[in-house]
Amino acid sequence: MSTHDLTLIAGSAATNNEAQVLSLRHLIDGEWVSSASGETFERRSPSTGQLVSSVAKGGMAEAEQAIAAARRAFDDGRWSDIPGADRAKFLNKVADLIDENRARIALYETLESGKPIAQAEAEIQGAADIWRYAATLAWNIRGDSQNALGPDMLGMVLKEPIGVVSLITPWNFPFLIISQKLPFALAAGCTAVVKPSEMTSATTVILGELLVEAGLPAGVANIVLGYGDPIGAMMTTHPDVDMVSFTGSTAVGKAIVAATAKTLKKVSLELGGKNPQVIFPDADLDQAADAIVFGVYFNAGECCNSGSRIIVHEDVADALNDKVVALSRKVPFGDPLNRETKVGAIISPEHQSKIDGYVKGAAREGAEVLLGGAAIELDGLDGQFYQPTVVASVTPEMAIANEEVFGPVLSVLTFKTFEEAIALVNGASYGLSAGVWSENVHTCLEFARKAQAGTVWTNTWMDGFPELPFGGVKESGLGRELGHNGIDEFLETKTVQMRIGKTRQMWV
Ligand code: NAD
Repeated sequence: MSTHDLTLIAGSAATNNEAQVLSLRHLIDGEWVSSASGETFERRSPSTGQLVSSVAKGGMAEAEQAIAAARRAFDDGRWSDIPGADRAKFLNKVADLIDENRARIALYETLESGKPIAQAEAEIQGAADIWRYAATLAWNIRGDSQNALGPDMLGMVLKEPIGVVSLITPWNFPFLIISQKLPFALAAGCTAVVKPSEMTSATTVILGELLVEAGLPAGVANIVLGYGDPIGAMMTTHPDVDMVSFTGSTAVGKAIVAATAKTLKKVSLELGGKNPQVIFPDADLDQAADAIVFGVYFNAGECCNSGSRIIVHEDVADALNDKVVALSRKVPFGDPLNRETKVGAIISPEHQSKIDGYVKGAAREGAEVLLGGAAIELDGLDGQFYQPTVVASVTPEMAIANEEVFGPVLSVLTFKTFEEAIALVNGASYGLSAGVWSENVHTCLEFARKAQAGTVWTNTWMDGFPELPFGGVKESGLGRELGHNGIDEFLETKTVQMRIGKTRQMWV
């Protein structure tokens, strides 16, 4: 196949924009500070190689100071003691500031991550709405009561903020993912230490600026920049941290569970996925193909929800593959700063090699590469790009069928019976999301009940709403974000038993 068959978007004048190189520092106890060591590291754009940010490289000292500041801010009640309604007003103010700064935030999100600018803008807009949704929960922190314990007893169940929380985020949706954690922690009355991915620190720092501008008391939200080792490690083991909320790879998630075991912190984990979409013979194949192409190429496939594992009934497999390949050719990919682009750059050269390794490995094992299957250089750009890729004739034991490729690569397996399809769906170690395509509501419901996944989509893919909880089962995670669960994760339950009157002796 020639690359002329693909819809390429070369670099343009906009690519060589004059965006200011950011100098990023830590936010600790309300102050912007450099690292005690004076060390910094650079982040270059994955699509052009241009310098985007120079980042303070935090160490144990900064992590320790940030945790101490969050502990003091929690213990003296400067945030947890104020009414939920006031915390709600603050969250709404931050949402408004995010809206006002959307273009700037989206630009740096694109420059650091390589994602298309139009997509970045939509994500920042969606993130602002999550802050607004969390504000409604701050108004509604309610416990329970038990009034049927006998005449001299009243039971109350109080909801209290869990305390100091460590929030650790990945590089693929930096601003969106911190917005699925921080506003809910703040709504609950917690204080936080935040660590963004070392590859995408800029927009979390911009968020910190907005928090300060909105008037967040010092120490309530602290940001430490740098690498998992040593900062992440300190944030998951320190005795002054009460909870860790992590989004990232399953491997690091497992390491965090082991690290937190020493102090038995609460842990919430949003991890990887190998998300199947099952296409039955009665499905609307045009709609399914459209959603499949969106599901696998959105964010260049660097997406926990990537619908990367298609399980199609053998009677319609050829017809579906033809449609998916034809649509894949039309997906505009290339310069992330061009508003037409739908698939941007790959985050790093190492990651690009990993993606290519999966495709080449599958081909060696007998899979058929119907489209793409290689990195590609684009005019005017000096970064990593991978062709939209469709791999058919995949069998369940191949690595590409089970492991998270995290790139624009679709793998297609086939099935004959409903039971066989469910066995393939549930055969993976992951359980984040699953989808079903059928015009028969009974098929869809039976699938929804039997699929082991935190989210099931029927005749759609990757819709998301702040009102609906999101998370995974099996090796895709623990706990849920968004919905009411979003705040519940950061609340502890306390039982209060009140004796009323003095009608009886306690014991003797
Ligand atoms: P990663 O696990 O390599 O890193 C995530 C974060 O953890 C980074 O900030 C990193 O510095 C930090 N970290 C690394 N080692 C650590 C340690 N030992 N202790 C504490 N922190 C540590 O993940 P990534 O490559 O940045 O992101 C991609 C992964 O994230 C994919 O597997 C993807 O599926 C997953 N993800 C999941 C969701 C979800 O909601 N389920 C959403 C987005 C991404």
